[in-house]
Amino acid sequence: MTKINWKGLSKSMYYDMDGKPIDDVLAWAKMFENKNRLIKQEYILGKLVFLSSVWLGIDHSFTFAGKPLIFETMGFCQLCNEEFIMDRYSTKKETIEGHKKIKKGIIKLFIEHLINKHLLRR
Ligand SMILES: [Zn+2]
Repeated sequence: MTKINWKGLSKSMYYDMDGKPIDDVLAWAKMFENKNRLIKQEYILGKLVFLSSVWLGIDHSFTFAGKPLIFETMGFCQLCNEEFIMDRYSTKKETIEGHKKIKKGIIKLFIEHLINKHLLRR
């Protein structure tokens, strides 16, 4: 399946973990069920945060140029179950590096979330 923009440029919507386009949505669905799409998932800060990095396989980029964004890291607050950090990547390698980088800076991000979402809430 492809998406087409107003200039007539087209781009595949689905990609495997190696970044190769997939035409068959059922093939994508089968890959999506595979546990190896979970790149890294862990609880941190004494289980206050769940940090999850996964392969999505659906291009989340908004442009028709450049590499597709098919991996994602999300950080969820376990007090409210909301995501407070998200980043997307093109490759598994970038995802592993991105996950580590977010984990390193998570205390600052989580404190900002606590203040904005939990302490300043009226
Ligand atoms: Zn929260």
